[in-house]
Amino acid sequence: MSNPRAVALYSGGLDSTLAIRVMQEQGVTVEAVNIRTTFRCCKSPAAQLAAELGVRLTVLSVADEYVNLIRKPSYGYGKGMNPCVDCRIYMATMARKFMQEVGACVVITGEILGQRPMSQKRCDLAIIERQSGLSGRLLRPLCAKLLPPTIPERDGLVDRERLYAFHGRGRKPLVNLARQLGIRRIPPPSTGCSLTEITFAPRVRDLIECQPDAGRADFELLSVGRHFRFDRQTKIVVGRNEEENAWIELYFARENRDDMILVRPENFVGPVGLVRGLRVHEASRWAGAVLLQYTRQADPANAAVRVLQVNQPEQVFQVQPLAFDETVETL
Ligand code: SF4
Repeated sequence: MSNPRAVALYSGGLDSTLAIRVMQEQGVTVEAVNIRTTFRCCKSPAAQLAAELGVRLTVLSVADEYVNLIRKPSYGYGKGMNPCVDCRIYMATMARKFMQEVGACVVITGEILGQRPMSQKRCDLAIIERQSGLSGRLLRPLCAKLLPPTIPERDGLVDRERLYAFHGRGRKPLVNLARQLGIRRIPPPSTGCSLTEITFAPRVRDLIECQPDAGRADFELLSVGRHFRFDRQTKIVVGRNEEENAWIELYFARENRDDMILVRPENFVGPVGLVRGLRVHEASRWAGAVLLQYTRQADPANAAVRVLQVNQPEQVFQVQPLAFDETVETL
């Protein structure tokens, strides 16, 4: 009989790394799925760690509809604007589809009962299992002994005795288990999800309130730059460093939309700005003036910016500095 197959929801963190190793210890063949959202750190170590574990890794991105969870989560937010229960349901649903595609019999995760107040209470784990369509097929190897047996356990494909009963937030027992199981590189404890950050929340709230129809690209923009509101429908995003300036330029080229303009310094060294919304033309001079606030290398009497818009000729015009209290950063 061939080995049972499992699909692991894999973030590259310690818990999901351990979940995979625990299953491998009892001969289960694991395929890992790493699901990317706009808000998770793109420097996740998942690829390297998956290679060390000897599992095939598939990276999937959430679809445009994912932003609906952030706008109106059925199960509420955590301490930031993180809709963790809805997000876990969404990811477990993606993993279920992947499980069916590759002919696996179970989805495994690194969730631990009581570890996270927002999404790992006993009732949350049950909701995630049921709402993702994985009833009986969502196995949490690190706390399985505290939960009802799953179908693969009942069928004898997975030995429940070799699963664990971890509970709560303690990391030390998990690090000890990792050492016992021969995991040499212990991943850091961060979730890497900016939605959990309290300082990021006002920016998300501002977008939801001012632009109820905001799409994925608008949410993507939240992770970059300084944000200012010209009015409720129009905002400017200003790069904070060279990397962000380059990102904004690429974003502008990629989106190719006529409700967006790019504002570049013409005769001084400074950041670029992206204006997005209903009144981009009215906001362009103001945007140029905002750029002036973030450079010391402009001659205020002479400073000019270049404005680019899809299907429109480029324009160059002079800008005047604003009074400091004329701009309010939304974060
Ligand atoms: S921390 Fe972020 S990625 Fe993780 S479950 Fe919560 S919302 Fe989703």
